[in-house]
Amino acid sequence: MTFDLPDVEAPTEVELDRAAGLTLRWPDGTVSHFGLEELRRNCPCAECRGLREQGRVVGPNPRSLLALTAVDAELVGGWGLTIRWSDGHGTGIFAWSILRAWQVPE
Ligand SMILES: [Zn+2]
Repeated sequence: MTFDLPDVEAPTEVELDRAAGLTLRWPDGTVSHFGLEELRRNCPCAECRGLREQGRVVGPNPRSLLALTAVDAELVGGWGLTIRWSDGHGTGIFAWSILRAWQVPE
């Protein structure tokens, strides 16, 4: 199996705050910050992509009283990061190329 991903350098710093979000620092010094809910709703796994294609909301119910948190995170073979969520989900791999393309300026 090959992955046709653009060649993106891994961030030099990866910081996951379980309640606040993910901060990445790229080799060129750019810093990207992603909110947890933003990441969860855009989970790149096949299951969540399928739900979004059907126009369904991905992730915890927006009316849920429980705040979404990241339970755990793991680097995946130098090309991305997988996050385990408090809602039990955790199959999506956030490739650096996706995060880099998606970055929002501070
Ligand atoms: Zn997913």
